[in-house]
Amino acid sequence: MAPSSPPTPLFAPGGWRLEHSYAQLPPVLHRPATPTPVAAPRLVMFNHPLAISLGLDADALAGETGAAIFAGNQLPPGASPLAQAYAGHQYGHFTTLGDGRAILLGEQITPRGERFDLQLKGAGPTTYSRRGDGRAALGPMLREYIISEAMHALGIPTTRSLAVAATGETVYRENPLPGAVLTRVAASHIRVGTFEWAAAQRDDTTVRTLVDYTLHRHWPELIHATNPAIALFDAVIERQAALLARWMLVGFVHGVMNTDNMAISGETIDYGPCAFMDAYDPATVFSSIDQRGRYAYGNQPAIAQWNLTRLAETLIPLLHPEEAPAIELAQAALGRFASRYQQHWLTGLRRKLGLFTEEPEDPALIDSLLTGMQQTKADFTNTFAGLDRALPAVDAPRTDEAFHQWHARWLARLGRQPQSPAQSDELRRAHNPAFIPRNHLVEAALAAAEQNDLSVMQRLLAVLATPYDHNRPAPDYRSPAPDGAADYQTFCGT
Ligand code: AMP
Ligand code: MG
Repeated sequence: MAPSSPPTPLFAPGGWRLEHSYAQLPPVLHRPATPTPVAAPRLVMFNHPLAISLGLDADALAGETGAAIFAGNQLPPGASPLAQAYAGHQYGHFTTLGDGRAILLGEQITPRGERFDLQLKGAGPTTYSRRGDGRAALGPMLREYIISEAMHALGIPTTRSLAVAATGETVYRENPLPGAVLTRVAASHIRVGTFEWAAAQRDDTTVRTLVDYTLHRHWPELIHATNPAIALFDAVIERQAALLARWMLVGFVHGVMNTDNMAISGETIDYGPCAFMDAYDPATVFSSIDQRGRYAYGNQPAIAQWNLTRLAETLIPLLHPEEAPAIELAQAALGRFASRYQQHWLTGLRRKLGLFTEEPEDPALIDSLLTGMQQTKADFTNTFAGLDRALPAVDAPRTDEAFHQWHARWLARLGRQPQSPAQSDELRRAHNPAFIPRNHLVEAALAAAEQNDLSVMQRLLAVLATPYDHNRPAPDYRSPAPDGAADYQTFCGT
C-alpha cells in the first residue's frame, strides 16, 4: 500500500483558497502590484450570499477583518496580487491601458470547484496607472454594486460585487469625494483588450498562450479542437450574441463598450456610465461623454460585432498559416454574430410576449409593438410587465387605437398556440421584470448613502433581488422617473 501523505488543508482560515493561474502567464501580461493601505477602512457593503457561495467565512469577514481585507490594508491568506496588462479601442481609438486602479488578489476556488477572480477596484496605483491615482469614489462603487447585483438577479451574466469598503480618504475628481474600494468577482478579467495587448507584442506565442489559457479557463471542452483559435472565437461570438440580446431585452445601456470593457467570458463588465432605459427609444444614451451616441441602446449589437472584429484581428496569425484564408475564416465566423444575436433576441421577445411557438409573422408583431412604444414614449419595462390579455391596459400611452389593434393581433396569436393562457401568463412573468434599477431610485439610494444612511440602498437591493416577483406590492419601485425630471446623465466612474 502506498504511504498516505498527511492531508493538506484545502482552505485557509476564513475560507480563502486562492490560486494564481494568471500569474503563470508570460510576464508581459501582468505586473506585481500591492494594494496601498488606506487611512480608515470601513465595510459599507458586504454580500453575504455571494461570500458563502465563494466558500468564504461570511460571518468572519463581515466585520473589521473584512474591512481591512476589502480596503486593501491586509492581504487575505495566499494572495499574490497583480495588475493585468491590456489594451483597447476606446471610442474607436487604439490605446494601451492595463489595470490602472484594480488589483487582482488571486483566483478563489469555490467549494464546487469553480474559479473566480477576486479583484480590488480602487486599491491604489499600479504600473499601469499612468497619471491616475488608482483610486475610486464611493458613489460609483456603490452604483456598480447595485447594478451588477441587479443584473445578476435578472439572470444576466455579470461580474459580481462582494464588498465595498470606504477608505476614510478623499479622492479628488471635479470635487472632493469619499474614497472606496470595490471587490469585484469575475469568471475572469480577460478582455478583448487583453488579446489586443498580446497581439501588440508582435510575437504569436503570447497570443497563442492566451488562447490556450482562455480555453482552459472557460471552454475546456474545446482545448483539443483542430483549430483552437477559431473554436475560441466562435465560442466568444456565441456568448456575446447571447449577452447582447439579454441586455437589449431588459433595456440595459452599457454606456462604454470599449474593447477593454468587453469580457471574453461573456459576463457584463465595467459598470461606469451604464443605466436602464425608461421610455423605449433606440437612440437612448446616458453617458455625458458619448456625444455622438456611439454606445446608444440601439447601437449595442453592432458595436459588439465591431469589438469582435478587433478580437478577430488579433487571432489572424493563428487561424491559418496564410493570411487570406485566415481572414476568410474570421469573416465567416463574424458573419454568424448577427444571426445568432437575432435568434437570441427573437427567442427572448417571444417569451416576453408569452409565445411558446414560432410563426414567421412574429418579427412583424414585435416590430409593430416596438414602433408604437417609440411613438408613444412608452416605458419599456412597464409596457412588457403590464401586458394583459384583458384590455384596457393600465398605462395611458398604451390605450391608444394603435395599441388596441396590436393587442387584438397579439390575442389572436396567443390563441393559435396549444399552451393555455395561464401558461403563457407565467412565461411572460418569468421574462418581463417588474423591477429594474430605475435611475432616480439608484440616485436616491446613493445620495442617502453619502449621508451615511444605507437603509435606502438596502431596501432597493431587496426589491432588485427578486425582479420577477410581480406580486410584490412596491409601486414606488415600478414607476419611471417622475415627469419633468431632467434628462438622466451618467459619468464615467473615474
Ligand atoms: P474605465 O473607464 O474604468 O474602463 O478605465 C479605463 C482605463 O483607465 C483602465 O485602464 C483603468 O484602469 C484606467 N483608470 C481609470 N480610472 C483610473 C484611476 N483613477 N487611476 C488610474 N487608472 C485609472
Ligand atoms: Mg474598464
